[in-house]
Amino acid sequence: MPVASLRGTVASLMEQARTDLTELVAFRSVADAQLEPPEECEKAAQWLVEKLVELGFSDATAARTPDGSKCVHGHVPGPPGTPTVLLYSHYDVQPPLGETHWISPIWQLTERDGRWYGRGAADCKGNIVMHLTALRALRAEYGEFPCTIKFLSEGSEEQGTGGLEEFVPPNADLLRADAILVVDTGNFAVGIPTLTTTLRGMTSVDVRLAALSSAMHSGMFGGPTPDPVLGLIKMLDSLHDERGNTTIDGLDANQTWPGVDYPAEQFRRDANVLDGVELVGDGSVADLLWARPTATVLGIDIPPVIGSSAAVQAGTAARVSVRVPPGITGLQAQDALVEHLRARVPWGLRCEIERVSVGDPFVGSLRGPAYDAMKASMEEACGHAMTTEGQGGSIPLCNVFANTYPDAEIMLFGVEEPKCLIHAPNESVDPTEIERTALAEALFLRRYATTTRDRASAAAVPEQR
Ligand SMILES: [Zn+2]
Repeated sequence: MPVASLRGTVASLMEQARTDLTELVAFRSVADAQLEPPEECEKAAQWLVEKLVELGFSDATAARTPDGSKCVHGHVPGPPGTPTVLLYSHYDVQPPLGETHWISPIWQLTERDGRWYGRGAADCKGNIVMHLTALRALRAEYGEFPCTIKFLSEGSEEQGTGGLEEFVPPNADLLRADAILVVDTGNFAVGIPTLTTTLRGMTSVDVRLAALSSAMHSGMFGGPTPDPVLGLIKMLDSLHDERGNTTIDGLDANQTWPGVDYPAEQFRRDANVLDGVELVGDGSVADLLWARPTATVLGIDIPPVIGSSAAVQAGTAARVSVRVPPGITGLQAQDALVEHLRARVPWGLRCEIERVSVGDPFVGSLRGPAYDAMKASMEEACGHAMTTEGQGGSIPLCNVFANTYPDAEIMLFGVEEPKCLIHAPNESVDPTEIERTALAEALFLRRYATTTRDRASAAAVPEQR
């Protein structure tokens, strides 16, 4: 594998990458018409179509999806017998959030201390530019792509409105691939090649308690009267033990994370934990964050402190969520949560539990020809052993891909390392991450195409006389 030559080619394309990212960041492509004009997303999509056409994706187009956003897709056929790889990204971005906290203009790519700042510089426009750079390098070096490439970039990922999730199943053949690269995560740290191999699922329920037909004076009635707020707090308290471990009947909570460790000090900083406040749970940060279920109280209906009165409440409610690690389905976790809460309703309070949402965890490819090619390519590009991390949040599209293409290998990586501050003010990208990741992706496409073709011809040998 002529890595030195390809490495040089990618390096020579970084000025172009910077120009691309400058143009792309300038589109205020927040997919919410209340925040930015929809033309901004349209222009970003059109820009991407043009770049793809230049690269040989002659059928590149921006297609409407059910939520009204457009996904950009196109393909270039590879040599016969080669596999198909789908390259995913999204061109919409988070709103600026805390506009006064931005040090340089939000929509103008600005270099500071070697990093490039601007909304979307990493999430996910940096990844789009990374894809373009990898593909340009292959074109420049070999004149063609080593396998069939399908490109897919969605326009409403950050809104969670699910346009692409609904678009994929009825367009399954259009996007079908042997390997799907979901490029919207990043390395554990700059220069440390990292595959994100799991995503937690999530479920939530609403618990409603009623004790009285109306709120009553706490002086005249408090004492024998059951306080539903205290009853709710008792029920919620049972979701954790005194050390902060999640304790839901029937749900294991002692799993361990096999990949990279997440240093507690770094986690404290990333999570904005105040000095003197302890992290909770028996286990490493990675165990608790990526391998075990976690119950969180998302909201409680009780009177706010200011404006409260001397009364026992008639009733109360809470929304409880559980993040679900691989090995447990979203529904199993939800059933366990409902049973657990039902079994702990005190004092004969009336209790209703409504199931709100459920989504399964996701496990990416951990073995197979694409995984092997990716591991070797990341390690070659970065000069460092590859590691794996999980992600606490969920990407529902990954489950759609897994259900639609059960045989495809799905892998998550990208340029969004922790210093990027994605979704926060002062988002940035490290251009060396774009460069290394583009090299890794280009190497991967070559290596995967070659090894798959070799396997295909090896498998064909017994048929020859
Ligand atoms: Zn993203």
